[in-house]
Amino acid sequence: MGAGGSPARRASSGPANLRPHPAGATERLVALRAERRRRARAARLWRRDLLLAMLIAALALGVGQAAIARLSSGSPGGPGDLSAGGVPEAAGQVTADGVPEAGSLAPKARAGGRPPAGPEDPDRTQSNGSGFVSKPTGNLRVVPGSSGAKGPGAPLRFMVEVEGGLDVDRRAFAARVERVLFRKRGWRAGGISLKRVDSGRAAFRVALASRALTDRLCAPLATVGLYSCNQGGRAVLNFWRWKNGADAYGHRLHRYRIYMINHEVGHALGHGHALCPAAGRRAPIMMQQTMGVGACRPNPWPLAYEH
Ligand SMILES: [Zn+2]
Repeated sequence: MGAGGSPARRASSGPANLRPHPAGATERLVALRAERRRRARAARLWRRDLLLAMLIAALALGVGQAAIARLSSGSPGGPGDLSAGGVPEAAGQVTADGVPEAGSLAPKARAGGRPPAGPEDPDRTQSNGSGFVSKPTGNLRVVPGSSGAKGPGAPLRFMVEVEGGLDVDRRAFAARVERVLFRKRGWRAGGISLKRVDSGRAAFRVALASRALTDRLCAPLATVGLYSCNQGGRAVLNFWRWKNGADAYGHRLHRYRIYMINHEVGHALGHGHALCPAAGRRAPIMMQQTMGVGACRPNPWPLAYEH
C-alpha cells in the first residue's frame, strides 16, 4: 500500500502550483508547443547526425578502396604514377558508379538512359541472334588466358572474369579488355605496365556480370541494375550496359564499351570521379558518362591530365 496509499500527499504536494487559473492553461499550451518544437528539432538533429555518419562511412569505404587498390598495385613508379593528378573529384563518389542516395535513384536512372522496359529480367531474355539466351548463373569464372607484360617495369597483374550463362563470347570479351588496356593511349600512358593472368594474385579484376550479380558485387553501392562499379578490387561491368550502351554514346556501342573498361579500371587504379571541365571539351574518362556528359563530348579514353 506504500505509494498507492498516499493520494493525499500527491494531491497536496503535487501540481498545485501548476494548476490553475486561466493564465496557467495558456502557459501550459505554450510549454507544450515549445516541447513539441524541441522534440522535432531533436529528431531533425538526430536524422542529420545519422546522415552525416552514413556519409562518413561511405567516404571511408571509398577512400579505403582507393588505398587498397594503390597498395595492392605494387606499382614500381610509386604512388605518383597512379594519382588522379589534380583532377577534380566529387566527394563520396570515389569508386562508385552506383547512385549514393536512394532519393536520387529514379531521376538518375531515367537520365542515365533507357532503363529496361518490358521483361522483368532482361539478362535472361537477350540474345545475340544466335538463338542462345542468357541464363546467368550468378557465379563468375576466370577466363583462361594470359599475356606478356605490356609496359616498363614490374607489371600490374589483372584477371578477366565472366559470369556463367551470359550470352557472350567469353574469350572475345577478354581479348577486348586486353586490347583496350594494352593500348598506349590508355592508362599505360601514365607509365604503368600491365599483364593479364588467369591464376595467382591479381592487382585487379575485370568482370562482366548480369544486372543481378552486378548489384550484388557492387553492394553497398546502389547500381540498381543499370550501372557498373569498382568494388573490392574488381571492375564490375554491367552486362545490360554492355549490350545496350548509354545515351551519351548513341549507337556507338563499341566506343561505350571502351569507356566502361577504362572508367572502371581507372577506379581500380585509384582514380576518383572527375567533372566536365568546360563546355565543348572531351569528357574526362573518370566522369560518370553513363549518366550523361553534360556540356562535354563523350570520350572513352583517359585524358593526358588524368594519367
Ligand atoms: Zn565511376
